[in-house]
Amino acid sequence: MMSEHSSGSSASSAGNAGGSTPQRRGRTYHARANAGTPRGRFGFRGQGGSGRRPHVNVRTGYVPGRQLPTTAATPATTGEPALAPAHTPSRSHGHPRPQGAGHGHPRPQREDRGGARPRNASRSREALRRDRRNLRPPAGGFNYGSKRADVYLPPAPDEDTVRVIPLGGVEEVGRNMTLVETKDDIFVIDVGFQFVPEDDAPGVDYILPNIRYLEENKDRIRAVFITHGHLDHIGGVPFIMNRIGNPPIYTQYITSLMLKKRHDEFPHLPPLNIVVMQEGERVKVGSTYVKSFPVTHSIPDSMGVSIETKHGNVLLTGDLKLDHIDGKPTEEEDAMWTSLGKDKNLMFIADSTNAERDGFSITEGKVHATIEDIVRTVKGRLIVGTFASQFERMIKIIEIAEKLGKKVVTEGRSIKTNIEIAQKAGILKVDPKVLIGTNEMADYPSDRLIILATGAQGEEFAALMRVATGKHKFITLTERDTIVFSSSVIPGNEVSVQKLKDNLYRHGITLLHYRSSDVHSTGHGNSGELVWINSKVGARYFMPAYGFHSMLRCHARAVAQSGVVEKENIIVPDNGTVIDITNGNILKVHKEKVPGSPMMVDGFSIGDVQEVVIRDRQMLAQDGMFVIIATINLKNGRLRKSPDIISRGFIYLRESQDLLSESRVLIKKIIEDMTVGMDPIDLEYVKGSLADTVQRFLFQKTQKTPMVIPVLIGV
Ligand SMILES: [Zn+2]
Repeated sequence: MMSEHSSGSSASSAGNAGGSTPQRRGRTYHARANAGTPRGRFGFRGQGGSGRRPHVNVRTGYVPGRQLPTTAATPATTGEPALAPAHTPSRSHGHPRPQGAGHGHPRPQREDRGGARPRNASRSREALRRDRRNLRPPAGGFNYGSKRADVYLPPAPDEDTVRVIPLGGVEEVGRNMTLVETKDDIFVIDVGFQFVPEDDAPGVDYILPNIRYLEENKDRIRAVFITHGHLDHIGGVPFIMNRIGNPPIYTQYITSLMLKKRHDEFPHLPPLNIVVMQEGERVKVGSTYVKSFPVTHSIPDSMGVSIETKHGNVLLTGDLKLDHIDGKPTEEEDAMWTSLGKDKNLMFIADSTNAERDGFSITEGKVHATIEDIVRTVKGRLIVGTFASQFERMIKIIEIAEKLGKKVVTEGRSIKTNIEIAQKAGILKVDPKVLIGTNEMADYPSDRLIILATGAQGEEFAALMRVATGKHKFITLTERDTIVFSSSVIPGNEVSVQKLKDNLYRHGITLLHYRSSDVHSTGHGNSGELVWINSKVGARYFMPAYGFHSMLRCHARAVAQSGVVEKENIIVPDNGTVIDITNGNILKVHKEKVPGSPMMVDGFSIGDVQEVVIRDRQMLAQDGMFVIIATINLKNGRLRKSPDIISRGFIYLRESQDLLSESRVLIKKIIEDMTVGMDPIDLEYVKGSLADTVQRFLFQKTQKTPMVIPVLIGV
């Protein structure tokens, strides 16, 4: 007879929960404090059972906007609906390859991360996923962590009330989604996602807005409007649309191309129902008119929407800035905003990303002039690193090249894709001969070459880093090369950008970046621009959106100080805040919020309660694992042989023979002390106690707390 007691993914924590967790590095060590092992930035509480002492989290670092439940979690293997059972791309290529990471958004290096993984590792991950799928119940809705009774889902507003709920993007830059609701209709504006820093949630690919409220009210969703093609506005589409009933998506042409291109990577999903709007077009959706209006941003076909309700219009800008000359908006801008201001505007919702900066931002025109200057004067080859989503700038550079008789080489998949989109959309019209392949570079003198490359954020596998580290097949840097970073540094990427710069400078090149000259402009207006726009719109109510809380606050303050909107009519929301306006003049902000915590996309699974998994990953990343395999004779309780030990990421076993043999002796003793004389032998009980003692022993010896997983086999 053989019975196996092992700890699987979900049980691994349980294996640990059986044991105490010494705190690291001289902190209080609870000799028998039975708690889980919360070490993550989420501050998860251990999932131990009764009688476990609550744990002090020594590693704080709470991430704003993240409100994961700290209650005992559901095992990872249950309740995780398969996102896409039919879709099995390999990790290295499968993931939604963004059309270039936009300004200030995602962390593009994540895209290629899988490429570095050894083959067998990805295969076993694949196998793991297969297993998970098999264990999962049939798909059907997200896993929201249970039917938590405390979820707030207010009934639909009455016929004189307009409701606005930001579901994402108001406590972060990313995962934008706002809904505007009347008694009969719900309109969703933007379906974004956000990349997650590796430390916060190892292995999690993206986070999405929480769509629980929308799922509950699916039947009233009339349409989705997408303001523009950046990932923090379109990234969630493949994960979310079919879960909210695939309503039609209204957007402009270039955004529609980007949506389609991206959707091609999810062949198992039903096609999107996209309605292409003309610039400034007004459409009737259900019983409501919705008008689009053009806005200036760093990607073409950016639009805002004005939803015309009975009591006035609700306007959302998406991301925007102003085109201006030395702080004076251009005639086009003035005319557009003035005409919009003639409507009966109830509420204005606008981009706050750069609201912490005063005055007016640098215009794209200024950047173009600077770059043209550089192209004209530079001796030798020019390499421009930029965001692939900077259509206008890439187009401008190609046009300048044509004008000055130079050739352009593109490096990086997202740039190539977006240049194809620009050609298809007819916004890039140059002689095709201007664009040449990398293999043709040798045919031209270096001062006739411009290379447009991805990777100015220091992404590990992008073109610029390969060039910088001498790993590029065709491009070898020399002292005659000039490199321009036509981008800003996305917060969080400082270290990788620094590495990239250092690697580049080792070749003696010249580097120009946004701090040294006007080679980059943001896509988001400064507070001067935002206040000007707000004054033109003249809505009674104002809600700053699209940004971290500090940005929203600065935006609100600037608008209040200018006197454009009365202070009590400005609402600074959180994700999930419910704002009702009745009869056009009664404001009610609900005390409770609808679910707004992020939904995680982790491989195929989506949910907001994978704390157990995340916590295990964090623990494994910190201290590794220690597996004990022991075979016990069930007749007499003795070990059949010395226990086997496998460890990963903990200590180098070969150089720790003493620790190993001490561990073996200890393990044998703990087990036999309990099993000899026990009848019948309860391996589950033995396992808990063993994990506990071994973990304490290892901590004393190493100041590390690896995940201890005992596998006891009774024969
Ligand atoms: Zn944007």
